[in-house]
Amino acid sequence: MKLQYPYLGYKKECNQVPIQFPPQHQDEQPGLEYIMDPKPIFDNPEYRGSGKLRGKKVLITGGDSGIGRATAVAMAKEGADIAIIYYDEHEDARFTKECVEKYGEKCILFAGDIRDECFCREAVEETVKAYGCIDVLINNAGVQFPQKSIENITQEQLELTFHVNVFGMFYMTKAALKHMKCGSAIVNTTSVTAYAGQDDLIDYSSTKGAIVSFTRALANSLVEKGIRVNAVAPGPIWTPLQPASRSADFITTFGSDNPMKRAGQPWELAPTYVYLASMDSTYVTGQVLHVDGGASMQS
Ligand code: NAD
Ligand code: MG
Repeated sequence: MKLQYPYLGYKKECNQVPIQFPPQHQDEQPGLEYIMDPKPIFDNPEYRGSGKLRGKKVLITGGDSGIGRATAVAMAKEGADIAIIYYDEHEDARFTKECVEKYGEKCILFAGDIRDECFCREAVEETVKAYGCIDVLINNAGVQFPQKSIENITQEQLELTFHVNVFGMFYMTKAALKHMKCGSAIVNTTSVTAYAGQDDLIDYSSTKGAIVSFTRALANSLVEKGIRVNAVAPGPIWTPLQPASRSADFITTFGSDNPMKRAGQPWELAPTYVYLASMDSTYVTGQVLHVDGGASMQS
């Protein structure tokens, strides 16, 4: 059954329509955005840039799809050149590059694995070669592998989840910091699961808790350099991560159990990343902003 999908993903009048998704599952992570049905909504046509990031150089991990894509597009609208690191979803990445270029900004792509510190260093160096510096680092790449019990979390899964979600963030930050200066900003993607403690995502929730602490410690360590570090904690958002990690059945009601009774769309996150990256938030550091349809109120 093809569902009528409302403009921007929800009915503007009430913001509370339960949206059901057609059942779907992808076998591998990272998932692919271009095969999702319906496609996530990453660009709000009513969002008009006002030069908040004019001339800035922004590096986004996982910027090919989902929340990262929406952030790349909103930041391009604000005048930033974008560099994207992604794993191997070439078609999604090419499309995001096209979208950024449509808004008149540059976009360069790096496919590779952020578990490899050498790759992180190379991608950073290539970005600096192309753009001259890095003003904003968005640490956003992540994976999740739901399991009913902690006993089902293998050593391999545990290490993979921490390696991508946490170690990758360390590698990227270490490499990028050399090229960041006073006024630069880092924004990390954590999750409501760090606060709610999701029972079927114990390892993932733990990585997201680590990201909250990483954000606060790094913010303290960089405050004198004038580099701000903050995080965004999304609730349930319609991105490739979901069909690639959840059963087809689970997907049909994804997000319906939170206070707004719906999943969020990637475009609804992007302005928060813009805020934390721009001069609008010059007095904000070490903070986590919750964009979750109210989900963290339940924790
Ligand atoms: P997504 O699949 O679009 O983005 C995740 C990205 O991570 C992928 O595009 C992929 O390229 C990248 N990635 C994964 N493993 C990698 C690796 N080894 N090396 C390099 N890149 C790798 O899904 P998304 O939901 O937009 O995820 C973005 C962030 O948001 C993640 O950190 C996720 O944990 C977080 N988040 C998502 C939700 C949600 O409901 N979608 C909720 C809370 C937090
Ligand atoms: Mg992707």
